[in-house]
Amino acid sequence: MQKFLAEAKDSEPFLVVDVDVVEHNYRELRRLLPLAKVYYAIKANPAPEILRRLRSLGSCFDTASANEIQQCLNQGVTPDRISFGNTIKKKRDIAWAYEKGVRLYAFDSLCELEKLAEVAPGSQVFCRVLMQCEGAEWPLSRKFGCAPEMAADLLVKARQMGLDPYGISFHVGSQQTDLSQWDKAVAQVAQMFTVLQQADVDLRMINLGGGFPARYRSDIPMLEAYAQAVSQAMTKHFGNNLPDMIIEPGRSLVGDAGVIQAEVVLISRKDYEEDRRWVYLDIGKFSGLAETMDEAIKYRIVTPRDGGPTGPVSLAGPSCDSADILYEKTAYEMPLALEVGDKIQILSTGAYTTTYSSVGFNGFPPLKSYCI
Ligand SMILES: *Cc1c(COP(=O)(O)O)cnc(C)c1O
Repeated sequence: MQKFLAEAKDSEPFLVVDVDVVEHNYRELRRLLPLAKVYYAIKANPAPEILRRLRSLGSCFDTASANEIQQCLNQGVTPDRISFGNTIKKKRDIAWAYEKGVRLYAFDSLCELEKLAEVAPGSQVFCRVLMQCEGAEWPLSRKFGCAPEMAADLLVKARQMGLDPYGISFHVGSQQTDLSQWDKAVAQVAQMFTVLQQADVDLRMINLGGGFPARYRSDIPMLEAYAQAVSQAMTKHFGNNLPDMIIEPGRSLVGDAGVIQAEVVLISRKDYEEDRRWVYLDIGKFSGLAETMDEAIKYRIVTPRDGGPTGPVSLAGPSCDSADILYEKTAYEMPLALEVGDKIQILSTGAYTTTYSSVGFNGFPPLKSYCI
């Protein structure tokens, strides 16, 4: 990785992902949660090399659109290993996926269930329940899921409509740092299994979503602790009667496998009285670093001048939009010796960067990516 970065001749910022690290992360997750089937959430990084490696390791794939399904099929993934996990789908896209052989679908509303019953008859469906997402640095609350009582009713209806009510899903929020969230969620799901049993619907699957972390600035629990939290929650609430388990990691598989190399474009001050420097990079919110929105994800940054004295900085992207500030409230320090033209490295940027970069806002190209 360091050799690749040192020898790169690119004049624009780029991401490089070490696919061996993705493999390592996948194997670790499998080792720590051997009973869980992994559905990689490809929105985190759909690079063909990553999809191919994970396919060869036996992974399944969580997709959100016809296009993402096609990207998996293009890399030789068979449809029985694909979940159409978005709760918001066009009927014609469901029909297309069904025609391609996909038989596993998410929903969280009657409207979506009606589409599924019509164009994906007999498919396995799972209902997503609402979560609070407390403790998550990138929450996914409110927009997805429905209340447990509604989910239970919908799963009963699913069977009446000729679908196979397979299970229940949740997502505790991305980059979740509060391990107790899984216990709460699994408890709720286990209770719904019992309720539905009384309605003669035997659910067989729990989908525990994503939420496993990458390493940004703040300390995070070890992956072992996450796995233990999940396993303990499952045993506590399901006993020996464990249903099929699905997890949908995105960030934790690819985040730490990637590094962005970018360049310092401008270093300035706003006032003679101010210590704080503004450091403008050739990458910003619109060219890959969208997760700095509200300064939510705080990346680790390495400069070639590290080691000397540092001073406070605000960090911003190159575009003509004042929303394109990466960190202003969060305390970031950079070396006083930093110079225009220096190549800096933004660590753990393998997830949610290339897919979030715009096609050409202000004429800046989308984030280039390499796999090694
Ligand atoms: C985004 C997403 C994931 C991946 O979440 P991470 O926190 O990146 O692991 C998993 N499942 C669903 C349904 C998602 O939308």
